[in-house]
Amino acid sequence: MDPFDSNSTGERANLPRNMIENSMFEEEPDVVDLAKDSAAFPTFPALDPDEVAYEPRSSRLLVRGLGENDMDEDEEDCESSARLLGMSFMNRSSAHRSSSSPYTRQAPPRSCSRPSARTMVVCVLFLVIVASMTMVLYFLPGCTFTKTGCRKPNKTTPFEPVYPVSTNGELFPWAQYRLPQSLHPLSYNITLSPNLDSMTFTGCTVITMIVQHNTKRIVLHSAGHNITKATFKLGEGEARDVTVLEYKPKQQIAVKFSEELKAGQTCVLTLDYSANLSHTYDGFYNSSYTDKDGNKRVLAATQFEPLSARKAFPCFDEPAFKATFLIKIKRKPAYMTLSNMPKAQTTKLSDDLFQDEFEKTSVNMSTYLVAFVVADFTPISKNVSETLVSVYSVPEKKEHTDYALDTATKLLEFYNNFFEITYPLKKLDLVAIPDFLAGAMENWGLITFRETSLLVGKQSSTLEKQVVASVIAHELAHQWFGNLVTMSWWNDLWLNEGFATYMQYMSLQTVLPKLDIGNLFLAVRFRALDKDALNSSHAVSTEVNTPEQVEEMFDSVSYEKGASILLMLNASLPGDQQFRKGIMLYLKTFSGLNTDTDNLWNSLTQVEVPTQHLNVSKMMSSWTSQKGFPLVTVSRKGDEVTLTQEHFLLTSENATRTSSLWNIPVTYVNDSCSLDPRCRQLVTLETKSESFKLPESVKWLNVLTHEDRASLIHNIFALSRLGRVSFQHVLNLLNYMPNETETSPVTEALLQLNNIYQLLDKRQEQYLVARMKNYIMSLFGSLMDNQTWTEEESVSKQELRSALLETACGLKRINCIKKAKALFKQYVESNGTFRIPGDLQQVVFSVAAQSDEDWPILLNKYGHATYDSEKRKMLRGLASTQDVRRIVWILKAGLKGDPIQTQELPLVISAICNGFAGYLFAWDFIQENWDSLIEKFHVGSFAIQTIVKSATSQFSTKAHLDQVQGFFSSLKERGSQMRSAREALETIRLNQRWMDNNLPMLQRYL
Ligand SMILES: [Zn+2]
Repeated sequence: MDPFDSNSTGERANLPRNMIENSMFEEEPDVVDLAKDSAAFPTFPALDPDEVAYEPRSSRLLVRGLGENDMDEDEEDCESSARLLGMSFMNRSSAHRSSSSPYTRQAPPRSCSRPSARTMVVCVLFLVIVASMTMVLYFLPGCTFTKTGCRKPNKTTPFEPVYPVSTNGELFPWAQYRLPQSLHPLSYNITLSPNLDSMTFTGCTVITMIVQHNTKRIVLHSAGHNITKATFKLGEGEARDVTVLEYKPKQQIAVKFSEELKAGQTCVLTLDYSANLSHTYDGFYNSSYTDKDGNKRVLAATQFEPLSARKAFPCFDEPAFKATFLIKIKRKPAYMTLSNMPKAQTTKLSDDLFQDEFEKTSVNMSTYLVAFVVADFTPISKNVSETLVSVYSVPEKKEHTDYALDTATKLLEFYNNFFEITYPLKKLDLVAIPDFLAGAMENWGLITFRETSLLVGKQSSTLEKQVVASVIAHELAHQWFGNLVTMSWWNDLWLNEGFATYMQYMSLQTVLPKLDIGNLFLAVRFRALDKDALNSSHAVSTEVNTPEQVEEMFDSVSYEKGASILLMLNASLPGDQQFRKGIMLYLKTFSGLNTDTDNLWNSLTQVEVPTQHLNVSKMMSSWTSQKGFPLVTVSRKGDEVTLTQEHFLLTSENATRTSSLWNIPVTYVNDSCSLDPRCRQLVTLETKSESFKLPESVKWLNVLTHEDRASLIHNIFALSRLGRVSFQHVLNLLNYMPNETETSPVTEALLQLNNIYQLLDKRQEQYLVARMKNYIMSLFGSLMDNQTWTEEESVSKQELRSALLETACGLKRINCIKKAKALFKQYVESNGTFRIPGDLQQVVFSVAAQSDEDWPILLNKYGHATYDSEKRKMLRGLASTQDVRRIVWILKAGLKGDPIQTQELPLVISAICNGFAGYLFAWDFIQENWDSLIEKFHVGSFAIQTIVKSATSQFSTKAHLDQVQGFFSSLKERGSQMRSAREALETIRLNQRWMDNNLPMLQRYL
C-alpha cells in the first residue's frame, strides 16, 4: 500500500512507540494478558495445542565496544566536523552519485589545527577527506547481537485462559487477537449482492478448510455481519446447521463442536449474511462522484489492508492464511464489476440483475489482497507478454489514463525481466477510485488508486507524472514483494513496504531516468532519519499485536527506513548483481509462501561470494531489530583513521542513552585510485570504535556531490538539535548557500530553515521572525528572483523552483507575489484555455487564496476542476487562507465530506497548521472532533498520524506540552497509547529545549 500523501514529502509523518526492540514475531501466538483482558470472565476448560503460550523473545546479547579516544581541543573541533561526515554518508548511495560535481574546493589541509569557522569548513572537507570520495556509509548496523535471544521453552503447565462472553451469552472459545492454527483455509467461494440504492449487501461465503491438529472449534474473523444461516460439513458427511458465536471486540466468530475435528480432515463452513456497505474508507465501502452533467454516481469498492477483509466476508484475516478465492458478484445492468481475476462468465438472473463470476485465483493469496469494484468505469488496455494491462477510470476521465497505461506496461516488462519471474496472472487492472484514502493499494491483479496517483493529462508537468509513475512502480513491485511472497505477520510489514519503496526508486531510475527520482528518494530518507532519531521510534521489525499497533506499522520506518537499509546493503555487496541474485533466490524459494526477515537475510547470504567477509545476516539484523541509527565519528591522527559509533538519539539527556551497536559498512576511496566504484574500500564497523591505517602519502579527494552537500546540511541541523554543534556552526555552513544551485541541498536547507521559522512564528517571536525572513532572503533571494515562471522540462528544476517560490511567496517576497498574482489573473481570464505550469500551481493558488476577492474565485474553480492533482493544490491553497472564518468553514466542510471530501482532511489540516491564523483552531478542532476522526480514519492509521503530527509538531512551550499531554491521556482506549501521541510529546519537548538553548544565539547572530 502507498499510504502517503504523494504531493509532499515534507508532510510524511512519522511516529513511534517504544516496543521491544528485537522481537521477531514468531508463528506462536502471543501471551495474552488475560487478567487485564477479561478477568471477570469464567474459565473455559480444555486447551488446544494452540493455547500453549510462549514468551515473546526478549533477551539480547550486547557486545561492548572499545574505549573512547581521548582528544585534545583541536581534535575535538575536527571531530565535530567528522561527525558530520559520518552522518552525511548515512544517506548516500554510490549508485546515486554523479561522477562529477560542480562543487569543488581546494584540497583541505591534512590536519585540523585551528578551531574556528574556517576550521569548521576545513574539517567538513576533511570529512570528505576521510571518506574522500566515498565513504559510503549507509545506515549503520550493528549487530552485535544475536538477534534472537532466548526463547523460552513451552511451558509445561500453561496458564488457565479466561474466555470472554459472546453476544449470545455463551462463552467464546478464544481469547487472543491472533487466530488459532488448528485449521487452515484452502479455498473461499464468495457470492456478493451489493445494493447501491440501499447501501447494503448480502453475501454467502463457503470456506473449505483443512484441520491441522485436533480441535473442537473453528475461530475466524467477521466484522459487522448479521449471519443469517450457518452450515458445517465434515469430509464427505452431510451439511448440518451450526450456531455461530460472535465476540465483537476482537471481530471474531466461532463454531464449537462436541466432537474433536481430527488432523488431516477437510471440512466446509458455509455462512449467509447481510451487512451495510461501509461508510468509511475500508472494507466493502460505498463511494460516489459527480459526473460532468452534475449527477451523483455511486459505486462500491474495497480496501482491505490491513484488517478489513473481515468486513466484507468472514475469513481467516491474517496474512499467513493464504487460500484460493472464487468470487461472484451480482449487479444491475448499468454497472460493471472487477475483481482480482479475469471474468469467467456473466449470467442473467433477471431483467434487472446479472451475476459476474470470476475465475478462481490461480495462486494462493492472503485475504488483505482480495478486491472487487462495482462501478460504471471505462478502461483502456494493452498486452504485455501474456498479461492484459488495463487502466480504469470514471468515463469522463478516460483521456487521463494514457500515461498510466504506458508507464505500467513498461514497468511490468522491467519487473518480469529483473526478477526473472513472470507476473503470474492473465490480467492486471489499475483503477482510479474517486473516494480513496491511501495513495494506492496493491491488490493482486486489481490495483486501486486515488485519482491523483493514477490520472494525468497530456499537458501535466513531469513532476505530476513523477508522482503517478512512482506510485505505479511501488504497487507493481508489490505484485512480487507482498503478493507472491508475503510477510507472515504485520511485524515484518517492511518486507512488503521497504522492498516496494526501494524497487520503486530503483526501477524508475532505470526505466524512466528522465523523471530524475533521486532527489525525492534522498529527501524521504532524511525524513525517515528525523523520525528514527526520536526515542519513540521503533525497530523496523517490531512486535505488533493489537489492531492499532498493526495500523501504526504503516509509517516511514517500514517504508523509507526499510528502503534505505536495502539501498545500503546493495551498495555494500560486491558487484552489481549480488543483491539482485539474492532477492531472486528469495522470491523463488518462497514463492506463494510467507516469510520473516530472517528468510530474506538467509537468501542474500546464500549467494554471497565466498571470499567476501560481509555477513549479511549479522549485519542486517542489527538494522532491523533495533530502533534508531548510529552517529559515526571519523577522526584521523597521522595515518590512522578511527571510526566510532554511538546511537544518534535526540532525547538522550538521562538514562535513555542506549548501548545499541550497529554493524556498519563504511566505504571510502582516496586519491590513490579514481572515482571508479572498483576503487572503493570497505571497512565494517561492528564495535564501538575501530581504527585502520592509511598510506602516509594518501591525499583526499575534495569533490562533494550534491547528495553529499544535502546530507551535510541535513546532518548539521540534526547535530544542532542534538546539541553537538552550535547553531552558529549551522549558520557558518550555510554561508555557501548563495553559490548553491543544485536542487537537493537548496530544498533541504529551505525545509530546515522553514521549520525554525515556523516555530518562531508560532511563538510570536516577531523580532526573530523578521530576522529569520531576512536571513532566508539573504541566502536565497537572488536564486528566487532568477526562477522562470513558464513551462519547465527538467524535473529537478521544477522541484527547485517550486520549493524556492513557495518559500518566497510564503514570506511575501514582492517579486514572487506579483508574478503569482499575474499568473492567476491570466488563468482566470483565459476561461480554461491557459494552464499554469504544474509545479507552479501550488504557489499561485496559495497566493490567490490570501486575497479576499480571489478566494471565492478559487473555491469556484475547485468545484469545477477535473484534474485531481490540480484540485488538491487548489484545496491546499484554499486552506492556507489566514481568514479565520474561512478556516473554520473548510474544517467543517471536510469533516462533513461536502463539498470537500473527507479523504482530504489530513491535507487540509496540514495546510492550515502551516499558517499562524489557523493552527490553534486546527488543534481545537481535532480535540473536539476526535471521535468522528477516528471513526473515519482508524486509531493509529497513517491519516491519524499525519493529523496529529501536523497539529502538534510546531508547539514549543510548556503550556502546549501540558495541553497535548492532557488531551492524549484523556483518550484512554481511543488513542492514548498511539505511538504518534508519544512522538508528539517528544517533539514538543525537543522543540522547547531547542528554543531554550538557541533563542539567545538567534538574537545574536541572525
Ligand atoms: Zn506499499
